[in-house]
Amino acid sequence: MRYINFHTHLHSMIDNTVEVRSLSTNDIAQIEADKLYTVGIHPWYAHQGNMEEQLNILKTISLQPNVIGIGEIGLDKLRGPTLDVQKRVFAEQLAIAQAVNKPVIIHCVKAWDELVRMKKGYDTGTLQWAIHGFRGNARQALQLVKLGFYLSFGHHILDSQSKVLESLEAIPLNRLFLETDDSGATIADLYNHAAQRLNKTPDDFARIIEANFNDFFNR
Ligand SMILES: [Zn+2]
Repeated sequence: MRYINFHTHLHSMIDNTVEVRSLSTNDIAQIEADKLYTVGIHPWYAHQGNMEEQLNILKTISLQPNVIGIGEIGLDKLRGPTLDVQKRVFAEQLAIAQAVNKPVIIHCVKAWDELVRMKKGYDTGTLQWAIHGFRGNARQALQLVKLGFYLSFGHHILDSQSKVLESLEAIPLNRLFLETDDSGATIADLYNHAAQRLNKTPDDFARIIEANFNDFFNR
């Protein structure tokens, strides 16, 4: 079996792991031909530097085969420029994702209504969407799944008191990913916890995530 780390900013250097590293448009010099990436302008930085230039960089780099998605992109009400600015940069990146037919990896903090509106307004129905670092409750998780989102869970599932565990159990298995993001957790640890919680053998669980990975990234 192999692990799939859906979203990380670090190199884990662990064998048997497929990592999808998330880079900003400023970091594309780090891209190596034999590794997988998503690239995007994070909502926190949607006002920094020359946005037109960054969007042009994204347009070009997103054509590269090992840049398999656009992200992380999205909306954050607690940090970054005004929501209007964030929405504009988000919309531009959704258009790029649609043009190159690659999925989007979403960062969303306290802007769920706006996110859903953006999905309905800017998605022609062909895009795949995943919320990364999902920490909400089961009701919210099911709502998002119903709207077409995949959910990626991070180190919060290691906290046995976390309400996010109910979400992990509530959503269909075919909408699920695991990620280390920038935490110190290992992907193996996340797999073990999730598999146990869902009463799956490690092999069965790994097969489920692998299938989701292939569906989501159209591989
Ligand atoms: Zn991240």
